[in-house]
Amino acid sequence: DEFSGLGLSSKVTEAVIAAGYTTPTEIQAQAIPHVLQKKDIIGIAQTGTGKTASFVLPMLTLLESGRARARMPRTLILEPTRELAAQVAENFEKYGKNHKLNMALLIGGVSFDDQIKKLDRGVDVLIATPGRMLDLFGRGRILLTGVDILVIDEADRMLDMGFIDDIKKICSLLPARRQTLLFSATMPPEVQKLVNQFLRDPIKLEV
Ligand code: AMP
Repeated sequence: DEFSGLGLSSKVTEAVIAAGYTTPTEIQAQAIPHVLQKKDIIGIAQTGTGKTASFVLPMLTLLESGRARARMPRTLILEPTRELAAQVAENFEKYGKNHKLNMALLIGGVSFDDQIKKLDRGVDVLIATPGRMLDLFGRGRILLTGVDILVIDEADRMLDMGFIDDIKKICSLLPARRQTLLFSATMPPEVQKLVNQFLRDPIKLEV
């Protein structure tokens, strides 16, 4: 199997080939077509399975139409740690280098000024840890009404780190009409509850 059959744009497929990948991993082959069809998904996948590209690649394809407006991110990716957030940002940079998309990384330990400037410019891709995101939202710096796609990555780690209430709060602030992609290595009851409350007819993929 090859990347060319999954429905990704040619720009994205070219970037994947340039990165040296020829064959999609199992989670990529399963998830990408559903994400492109705007379905909600639950991806039960560990790190190391290629799960990051399974959402980054179709999101880049979907983002090719439309453009960002000031303070209104078009997509939001929530990560439990700064390190994971930075890794996801690197993936967007690697695969999106021909896309001219604006990205912002909202993590602790980085100056608010830079983050606010980026938000004001309009971001296509907002990657954040929940605390920092809610902090900037509380300061009136982010409008969440334009978010079309939400990714909750490593949901079981979010739970372990005490972020589940923050995640619920963020979900309730987002437009009801949106696409939600949730990834988790395991499915504890609290994560299942989150799924029941905030995902719509999700397709469950297990690798
Ligand atoms: P992840 O599970 O997203 O943390 O990715 C794990 C590693 O797999 C990363 O170092 C990626 O660069 C690599 N990777 C992602 N997709 C592929 C692929 N289709 N073929 C080979 N390696 C990949």
